[in-house]
Amino acid sequence: MSYDPRQELVEICHLMAARNFTTAAGGNISVRMPDGTCWVTPSQLHKARVTCDDLVRVNAQLEVLDGVRRPSSEMLVHQAVYRALPQATAVIHAHPPIASGFAMAHVPLRTTSSSEGAVVLGAEVPCIPYVQPGTAALADLVCDAVDARHPAYLLANHGVLTWGTDLWASYDALDTLELFAHSLVIATILGGPRPLPDAELQALEALA
Ligand SMILES: [Zn+2]
Repeated sequence: MSYDPRQELVEICHLMAARNFTTAAGGNISVRMPDGTCWVTPSQLHKARVTCDDLVRVNAQLEVLDGVRRPSSEMLVHQAVYRALPQATAVIHAHPPIASGFAMAHVPLRTTSSSEGAVVLGAEVPCIPYVQPGTAALADLVCDAVDARHPAYLLANHGVLTWGTDLWASYDALDTLELFAHSLVIATILGGPRPLPDAELQALEALA
């Protein structure tokens, strides 16, 4: 039987709600299937309440092939990531409070002070400039901005975007981003993060 991602997608919706990684009805998750169609979370439904029956499968034109709900309005951004990165099979957009604070301040996160951050997130979490959510203009900007070295991005004045080669990798990037952002705030209060030596960062990069 071919892979059915719906149960895992629901599990991650509930985790995102439980861990305060997004506003109630905000944020969205998608999985790209081998035939190019995508399973995606529906528009305007609390992530804690999503069930398999609420998920929607869409084609490249965003026509609904399975499901009765409306797909997320931010599916254009997910498609932009898939267009830019053939290896991406899952995308998450969320509003985790601490990383979103960095997005509001337009401050990219340098991971030089965290071995875990450097391995999971790469050298930095770039900040993609603000464009109105849900628009083709934002999708075009995201398509140009994402690359294979960075699994996580800040969306200025909005939230965050992560991708992975599977659903759990994209969730891992989201989880690591939010916890790292929290640690960075604490380190800043305590006198500022102390960077690892360049040679150690290069060794960590090789592990990624
Ligand atoms: Zn959003």
